[in-house]
Amino acid sequence: MTVLSQPVAVPEPQVQRRNLVGLTRDEIAGALAGIGVPKGSLRMRTGQIWHWLYFRGARSFAEMTNVSKAMRTQLEAHFSIGRGDIRALQTSADGTRKWLLGFGPGQEVEAVFIPEEDRGALCVSTQVGCTLNCSFCHTGTQAWVRNLDAAEIVTQLLVARDALGEWPSPAGGRMLSNVVVMGMGEPLYNYENVAGALRIFMDPEGIGISRRRITLSTAGVVPMIERVGAELGVGLAISLHAVRDDLRNELVPLNKKYPIAELLQACRNYPGGSNARRITFEYIMLKGVNDSLADAKELVRLIAGIPAKINLIPFNPWPGAPYECSDGDTIAAFAEVVNRAGYSSPVRTPRGRDIMAACGQLRSASVKQRASERAASL
Ligand code: SAH
Repeated sequence: MTVLSQPVAVPEPQVQRRNLVGLTRDEIAGALAGIGVPKGSLRMRTGQIWHWLYFRGARSFAEMTNVSKAMRTQLEAHFSIGRGDIRALQTSADGTRKWLLGFGPGQEVEAVFIPEEDRGALCVSTQVGCTLNCSFCHTGTQAWVRNLDAAEIVTQLLVARDALGEWPSPAGGRMLSNVVVMGMGEPLYNYENVAGALRIFMDPEGIGISRRRITLSTAGVVPMIERVGAELGVGLAISLHAVRDDLRNELVPLNKKYPIAELLQACRNYPGGSNARRITFEYIMLKGVNDSLADAKELVRLIAGIPAKINLIPFNPWPGAPYECSDGDTIAAFAEVVNRAGYSSPVRTPRGRDIMAACGQLRSASVKQRASERAASL
């Protein structure tokens, strides 16, 4: 592991200026009207700002050279577009990068970039902490803090694009080609902010990532699933992890509210569902818990009729975790049952384990580090 930069503290501005990042075009226009921009030029000004923010990746108003100097000074006085506080960046031996972003005292989230050869996915967080308490997930063992707002979700992508040098928005050949909403938090418990951020990601005049390259993962907030399909049209992933309600109640306690049958019914109704747009079922492999051949067969029976792919996730351990990862042979045998039934069943290669950036490991290290810093200062 290489720590590329030590925590950098960017001082908060003295005056609380409104952040324009994360706003819709209408909201930007409203904010501009609020500082006296004439009605007749609101649309044009909004378009310019949008272009600078999301197509060119401007980090200051001074860069917006087609906006008059007087206007730039006025914008600077009232608004901010900064990246906030990047507290640390770590790079794994496998190239995975993890940013620790601070959004207020004690409020930190992580964003992880997972590169492939000629493309890559950014995994974004949606909440500081999580309320779901899944028994195998380290994030869930940490204190719940709050929902992220749209700006904080969008900022994760801006920071990653800055680091990759992908401004202006490249037409093709992007390293940051995909977004997975699979970081800390349950996105469907923060729907409006997540939807706002995803609309910005998808906007063709800005960041321009197609909805086909975005996947949102949920532990199964059934009433919200239909809206994801109808309003956003992004890919859906379901953290299934068990095929019986008694076990799933234990692993994903949200199951007590929305049991397996209801969850799968919502998947059957998912508007985007078709062979071209398969739903991903994530299934964590826990030794002796959910990894038998009988489990695999039941899984195939349960999802019959749903255009699906099964993503088998080797359990990523964390200190004190009550589980172990299934053996390689067991995972292979499980995958074969699923495969024979006609479903693709890729085994997710753990990425960034050395920097605790793998699934279920987020935020843990930063919390630990703070605890040790506290201990050291006593
Ligand atoms: N709350 C949403 C978004 C988080 S996605 C959801 O549950 O889908 C994070 C993914 O990593 C989920 O599929 C989660 O179940 C999985 N995960 C959590 N802890 C893990 C661990 N220790 N090892 C492997 N995968 C884990």
